[in-house]
Amino acid sequence: MPVQLRKPTERVCERCGRTEIWDEEASAWKIARDEAGDREAGDVYCIHEWDINGDFVPFENR
Ligand SMILES: [Zn+2]
Repeated sequence: MPVQLRKPTERVCERCGRTEIWDEEASAWKIARDEAGDREAGDVYCIHEWDINGDFVPFENR
């Protein structure tokens, strides 16, 4: 196994697209922001179904 430079600290809701990132200092999930700076909060009424990335994949194909 290679040295883990980035921890799997991102989760995406499969239903509404809400994206959260793990804030290590606060020990809590924070809502991610997209490239425009908008919060990717998704649907507040959604029962989120999290797809937690085991492997962090950089966004190279966007
Ligand atoms: Zn959701």
